[in-house]
Amino acid sequence: MKPIYKYIGIIRIYLVDLLGGIAISKALSELSKQQYFSKETLHNIQEEKFQRLFNIAKSTTVFYKNANTYSELAILTKDMVRAQFDNFISNTYKRKLYTKATGGSTGKSLVYYSTALSRSYLWAGIILSWIVAGYEKGDKIAIIAGSALIDVKSSFKRKIFYKFLNVDTYSAYKLDELNMTLYIDKIVNSKVKIIYGYATVLDRLATFINTKHPATFPALKGIVSTAEILTEQMRQNIQAAFKVDVYNQYGCNEAGVSAFECEYHQMHLINTRSYFEVDMEGSLISTDLSNEGFIMIKYLTGDKVEMSEEVNCKCGRHYPIIKKVIGRINDFIIDLNKNIVHGSFFHFLFRNDNSIKQFQVQFDHNAINIFLNVNLSIHDKAYYNRYLDEVKKNFKFNEYNLYINSSFLTSSNAKHRHIINTSEPVL
Ligand SMILES: [Zn+2]
Repeated sequence: MKPIYKYIGIIRIYLVDLLGGIAISKALSELSKQQYFSKETLHNIQEEKFQRLFNIAKSTTVFYKNANTYSELAILTKDMVRAQFDNFISNTYKRKLYTKATGGSTGKSLVYYSTALSRSYLWAGIILSWIVAGYEKGDKIAIIAGSALIDVKSSFKRKIFYKFLNVDTYSAYKLDELNMTLYIDKIVNSKVKIIYGYATVLDRLATFINTKHPATFPALKGIVSTAEILTEQMRQNIQAAFKVDVYNQYGCNEAGVSAFECEYHQMHLINTRSYFEVDMEGSLISTDLSNEGFIMIKYLTGDKVEMSEEVNCKCGRHYPIIKKVIGRINDFIIDLNKNIVHGSFFHFLFRNDNSIKQFQVQFDHNAINIFLNVNLSIHDKAYYNRYLDEVKKNFKFNEYNLYINSSFLTSSNAKHRHIINTSEPVL
């Protein structure tokens, strides 16, 4: 890279920091060095950060005021946070609290508060994964995702944030062939260096390229897949289409969990950002060490992971290695106009409504059926018709039905499925 581009790249990230009131540059340079620290040093940093956070929690939050030790604390569920929301806020934290909502892998999503420091580490963790894929500061990035990463009604500030970071966003909600063609052309013509997107969406684009719309991407350096399970088959499919390596990235932001694949495709968990454990069933329980404004300790993420026994990776990093993530699976909804929409549409539709505990969407060639499990002491049934109106605006079906507190369809592996195509056999 020519020096001038390098400087422009560095300036871009400083501008992002200035705009967002955050410190991605600082967090990124810290993590870039720290990832090669010894296992013991990393462990000590983690313990120190935890003790500090625990003391803040004890002295400044209602929820933890009588807490003694980590091991005595009960595992924190989303329901517990919802029930006592204000008690998790630190009364000495005076900076801005950012309202966020979780992705919701198996349950309804949770609204919580994040801080500038936590958001800085979140972005630094993502950028670390891009760096493995070949990213240099200033490179053009394509983010292909739902509203978790790209807000449909994105604010002006967010647009500028992406502009400074040199990110173009592509919605996962329009994946018909015409739009996929436009996406592919734009990725080629704007000389995108790194693509960052949902696993299922990348896989769908790849299949389209491999079977119907061959394309070459001379500027592309690598692809980072996120938010969903990336199977080996999907990885091969995406690599065959784009002719670059695919790296996996995994995060659970409310719990400070951020993991990225290294050059040897081992997934390293940044253990200085989170204080985590894995229980007998494989459930990941974690604490965000950089959120001092809204403190959730020993939080049940809803994801399952398998940690590797391996301690030394050829890449030289000493962050622990996740062997397997058993996380979120999303599906697409296909309507009568053959519009293909990523299932996360519904996560974002319902995410700010705390009266909705769980949802399921079933569709076939004729109808779309929305099942909601709700708390009727908050709103009456008629209130939920607003969601049906929203669905009508976005999908074409002959019938639209809403079922309140009816039972869901279950799958044989007992994992709750949010989106089910009932014209296909249920697995
Ligand atoms: Zn490694």
